[in-house]
Amino acid sequence: MSTTIASEDCLFCKIVAGEIPGDVVLSNGDVVAFRDVNPVAPTHVLVVPRRHAPDAAATVTDDPALAAALVSAAAEVARGEGLTDYRLVLNTGADAGQSVFHTHLHVLGGRTMAWPPG
Ligand code: AMP
Repeated sequence: MSTTIASEDCLFCKIVAGEIPGDVVLSNGDVVAFRDVNPVAPTHVLVVPRRHAPDAAATVTDDPALAAALVSAAAEVARGEGLTDYRLVLNTGADAGQSVFHTHLHVLGGRTMAWPPG
């Protein structure tokens, strides 16, 4: 599915629609990927489904193939950035660090990652 179903007052819906500028590194019928404005690693890209859902679990429920497309796009972004090793993060819920309630997959790379995350 590649329809754009936007939610009013959603920051990432506005970036997907081009109403707010984003530093876009990949765009296809399913997802848009753009650089995080507050990067925490040399590569920090957000992969966002065009179709609005509040978090990754909701995206999987709505459209499992779209969740797969998200991961596939993240791998494509990593390849484009020259990364062989990278971290994918899906913050889900405010206590987990989610601040934008439109599904987004963080692609982090370009430095050694610590574990456990903070
Ligand atoms: P999260 O905290 O997991 O919800 O991630 C939201 C991310 O969106 C944060 O890393 C922010 O730095 C990033 N962010 C917020 N506004 C923008 C924007 N206008 N363009 C790009 N990234 C943004």
